Amino acid sequence: RSWWDHVTPAPKDPINAVTEAFLADPCPYKINLGVGAYRDDDGKPVVLQCVREAEGKIAATNFLESTCAAISSKLVEESAKLVYGEDSDVIKEGRFAGVQALSGTGACRLFAEFQRRFYPDSRIYMPDPTWSNHHNIWRDAQVPIRTFHYYHPDSKGLNFVALMDDVKNAPNGSFFLLHPCAHNPTGVDPSDEQWQEISSLFKVKNHFPFFDMAYQGFASGDLERDARAIRIFLDDGHLIGCAQSFAKNMALYGHRVGCLSLLCDDKIQAVAIKSQLQQIASTIYGSPPIHGMLAVSKILSDPDIKAIWLKEVKDMATRVQRMRATLKEALEKLGSPLNWQPITNQVGMFCFSGLTPDEVDRLAKEFHVYMTYDGRISMAGVTTKNVDYLASAIHEVTA
Ligand code: PMP
Repeated sequence: RSWWDHVTPAPKDPINAVTEAFLADPCPYKINLGVGAYRDDDGKPVVLQCVREAEGKIAATNFLESTCAAISSKLVEESAKLVYGEDSDVIKEGRFAGVQALSGTGACRLFAEFQRRFYPDSRIYMPDPTWSNHHNIWRDAQVPIRTFHYYHPDSKGLNFVALMDDVKNAPNGSFFLLHPCAHNPTGVDPSDEQWQEISSLFKVKNHFPFFDMAYQGFASGDLERDARAIRIFLDDGHLIGCAQSFAKNMALYGHRVGCLSLLCDDKIQAVAIKSQLQQIASTIYGSPPIHGMLAVSKILSDPDIKAIWLKEVKDMATRVQRMRATLKEALEKLGSPLNWQPITNQVGMFCFSGLTPDEVDRLAKEFHVYMTYDGRISMAGVTTKNVDYLASAIHEVTA
């Protein structure tokens, strides 16, 4: 008997499975609409100009431990300003505990561990559907998971009534995971008025809102606009948790730069919570890598480089918005009788197309177009050159 006989392969990650199938296809005009990574109009990954500028400036940094702790605090401070607002009382009063995290995934995982440790009997409510890894993260942290209604397949929009019912019916003082903008995988966000109602009900129910902010800037092109949901909760006086990722909005995927912040009642709480978060991190991975963190700190704290970044975020979001409009028009021009309005109603990186698993399968096998079986289209993979072909492929399989 071997030591490892009982170890069977883990289930394939649905997105990696799409990438593998795409890479194995020799067709020259194949399209990958699986992975949620930004691509330019030539289908190429981008390195943002702000990142190049920042890297130029940090090249001479002395990697001393003390310097890094100081810069890491700066990263946390600047990240918190992005979500809670430069002039917010929370920032002015230092009423938050924040730590650098291994991108958005690491921030979620740290929070899940923290939740289990300090609320051992709690559960987490997550939207149905949500990013599939949310389930894995809280499961591995041994926090029981419940889902709440979110998406309505008929309208391809928000099922607001059912959502509010679920919020109301959850036991008082429950933890909820919310996507503040550019919901993955549906591209469906509540309106400001709906967020206001959700926040008010959370107040009545004394629920804890944990925001997973993986796409700030990608919904509207404006980072402040995309933080509106969080600001609404802030104005209502909630304590909030927030996971932030710079993978998408700075196109820094591999550098794993993120931040976890928790609002507190006062500075004393903030010190205690921060030390606990650091302690959790220290037994899992010690401390996070510094190069990407140095670059992000520089981008956020140097006004000239930040201005370049804000424009580049706007440009990326605008390209995606343009592709939504172009794809919808192309389908309508082909005479598709289906309603493609949701393509432009939805926002952010993804379009929840409503394509069935059979249709997704045909798209891959007959048309070399790859996406996850839930019919999620990563709009970043759509370009001026492939959009007409994509529209005719979708029209063929749905006709
Ligand atoms: N949250 C959501 C909703 C996401 O879509 C993603 C990325 N797919 C993440 C978190 C994590 O991203 P990362 O760890 O690369 O920052």
